[in-house]
Amino acid sequence: GDYVVVATTRPETMLGDTAVAVNPADERYRDVIGKTLVLPIIGREIPVIADEMVDPEFGTGAVKVTPAHDPNDFEIGKEHNLPAVVVMDEHSVMNENAGEFAGLDRYDAREKIVERMKSLGLIEKIEDYTHSVGHCYRCHTEVEPYLSDQWFVRMKPLSEPAIAVVERDIVRFHPPRWKKVYLEWMHNIRDWCISRQIWWGHRMPVWWCDECGEFTVAVEKPKVCPHCGSDRLHQETDVLDTWFSSWLWPFSTMGWPDITDDLQHFYPTDILVTAPEIIFFWVARMIMAGIHFTGQVPFFDVLIHGTVRDKLGRKMSKSLGNGIDPVEIIEEYGKDALRYTLISQSTQGQDLFISVRDFELGRNFVNKLWNAVRFAFLNIDGQYSWYEIQDISPTLPINRWILSRLEKAKADISNSLSDFRVGEASRRLYQFFWNEFCDWYLEGIKPVLGNQDTKPEIEKTLLYTIDNILRLYHPVIPFVTEELWQKLRGNYIGGMESEHLVVADWPDPYDFYIDEDAEREFELIKQIVYAIRNIRGELSIPRGKKAELFFIPRDESLIPILERNHSLLLFLAELSDMKIANKKPDGVVGSAIAGDVEVYIPLEGLVDIESEVRRIKKEIERLSGIFSSTGRRLSDTNFTQKAPEDVVEREKEKLAEIKAKIDKLSKTLNDLTSV
Ligand SMILES: [Zn+2]
Ligand SMILES: [Zn+2]
Repeated sequence: GDYVVVATTRPETMLGDTAVAVNPADERYRDVIGKTLVLPIIGREIPVIADEMVDPEFGTGAVKVTPAHDPNDFEIGKEHNLPAVVVMDEHSVMNENAGEFAGLDRYDAREKIVERMKSLGLIEKIEDYTHSVGHCYRCHTEVEPYLSDQWFVRMKPLSEPAIAVVERDIVRFHPPRWKKVYLEWMHNIRDWCISRQIWWGHRMPVWWCDECGEFTVAVEKPKVCPHCGSDRLHQETDVLDTWFSSWLWPFSTMGWPDITDDLQHFYPTDILVTAPEIIFFWVARMIMAGIHFTGQVPFFDVLIHGTVRDKLGRKMSKSLGNGIDPVEIIEEYGKDALRYTLISQSTQGQDLFISVRDFELGRNFVNKLWNAVRFAFLNIDGQYSWYEIQDISPTLPINRWILSRLEKAKADISNSLSDFRVGEASRRLYQFFWNEFCDWYLEGIKPVLGNQDTKPEIEKTLLYTIDNILRLYHPVIPFVTEELWQKLRGNYIGGMESEHLVVADWPDPYDFYIDEDAEREFELIKQIVYAIRNIRGELSIPRGKKAELFFIPRDESLIPILERNHSLLLFLAELSDMKIANKKPDGVVGSAIAGDVEVYIPLEGLVDIESEVRRIKKEIERLSGIFSSTGRRLSDTNFTQKAPEDVVEREKEKLAEIKAKIDKLSKTLNDLTSV
C-alpha cells in the first residue's frame, strides 16, 4: 500500500504518535490529507492532518505528531482534537502503552525500535542531525517532554490590577524603558504552572481522597473528605515552584499573615533594587501578590541595575576564570574602595566593565578624601558650636565662591539621587570635591590662614563644607566618612545634632549661599591663574621662581576684583607682584588673555630666551613634519576610502591636535622674539 515517510530524532516516541501532519499547501501530500495511516509496530490507525505550523521545507515535509511528548505537538493535538498517548513514565521508562517495549529505559527502547523498524524494512535512512535538546540544569540529563497533570494559577485576574498600577506610574521603573517591557509581558501573561516534581520545596496544601478520588485544598489537613466523608486522605506529593513563595517576600518577611508591628510600619516598602532578568519571575509577581493579598503595592520604585562584567564585556563566571571576588577586593583595597569604584563607574541601568585595577583608583580616592579632611582639621584652631557653623555670612570672595559651588553641587546631587542616578551623583560630587574644594579652595586659603581677622570665617566655611562633603559622600564611602565625621563632631562645642553620620540628616541645598557674583569673580581668578601657569609651563619656568604680572583689564570694573584678590593671585600663580598697566610692557614678555584681562609676564631673568627660541623653533619644525605627512595621508582618497572609519577619525583628531600645538608654540615664539 501507500506510505508516508517521516523524520524523527526520538524514534521511541513514535509509539505515542496519534497523527502525521503536513502543510495544507504542500502539493506532495494533497491527496493523503484526511486519510488514515497505520502506525508501524503498534498498529494504531492515525489520521493525516493539515496544519500551517508544519514547515514543508523541513525533513520530508510530513511530521509525526506526539502530543504527549512534545510541546509543539501538544499544541497541534489541541487544535485537531488528537488523543495524547503517554508512553513513558516520569523516570523516562517506557510504560504499558509502549506494548512490548514497556519497562525499557528510553534509550534502550530507542535502539530496539530502530532495529525492529529496520527488520520490517521501514527505515529509509539514518543520518546525524544536530539539534538542541533541553538538559537538566544540575546533572545535564536530557529532559524528556512528557504529558502530565499540573497545578496552575489563573493569572489574568491577578495581572489586571498589576498592569494598572504600572500604567498609572504608581509603581515606577528606573530606567523607565523597563515599564514597556513589563507591560508587554503582563498583557500576554499565561497561566502559571506552580507544581514541581522535586523533593525540596513547600508541599502543596492539597489532599486527595483515596475513596472518591476528589481533592480538597486546605491550610490544615481535613479530618474527613468533604466530598464523601472518608478519612482516607493523602497529601499531594508535588511541591510549589520557588517563586510561589518568593512572590510573598515583601510582606511574608514581616510576619504576614499576622498584622505585626513591622508589617504596619514598613509595608508597603519604598524601593526594590534588582537585575533585569527577574522582572517577570519576581518583580511582576510580587506586585500581583502584594495587591492580591494585602491590597497594596509592595513598593513604589523599581531600580533595575546593570551587570558587572569584565573589561571585555563578558559576564564573570567560574569557567572563564574572569571573576572578581569582592572579599579579596575588600581585603586588598578596603570596603569603601570597593563601593566607591562600583558606584562611581556605574551608569543607571547599564552594565559595568571592571577590572581589579579600577579598585586601586577607588582606594586612591578614599585616601585623598582622608588626607584632604585631615589637612583641613590641622588648620582649624577655633572652637565653634555646630549651630554657629550653620550661619557663616561669608565676606571673603573665596568663601562666598566655595559655599555657592557647594550649594549648587548639593542641589545637583540630590536631584540625581532622587532619580536613582547614583553614579551621576557620585561623579558630580567628585567634580566639586576634587576640582573645586581640593584644587582651588584648600590651595587658595593657604595665604590667608594666618590672618587673624579672616581666620574664623575661613574655619567656619571649612567646617561647614567638610561636614557637607562627608554627608554627601556617606552613601558612597560609608566607613571612612563616619570615622572622619566623628573627628569633626569632636571639634564642636556640644557635639552635633546626631551621634552618627549614618543617621544624620541629608544636607538639603541652602539657596542663601548661592552667589553668582562671587562665582564670576572667582572664575576670573582661576582663568588668570591658568593663563599664567600655562605660560610658565610652555617656557619651563621652574616652580618657586616668581614672576611679575602686568595686567590690562578691558573693563574698569574688573580692577577692584583684581585688587581684592591680590594676595590670592600672588600665591596661586607664584608672582612676586602684580600691577595694572595701560600698554604691553617693554622687553620680552609672555602674554595671554584671561577672560577680559590681558596678562603679561616679563621674561627677562626668568628664561634663557635664546635657548628657548631655539628649542621652540626645533619643536615647531618637528611637529610641522608630522602635520604635513598626516595631512597628505588624509587627502589621499585611497587611504580615506579604504581604511576603517575609526582609523581615519583618529588621524583627523591627530591633525587637529598637532595644529593646536603648533599654534600655541608659534604664539610663544612670537612673544619671545617681539620686543
Ligand atoms: Zn538532573
Ligand atoms: Zn472522598
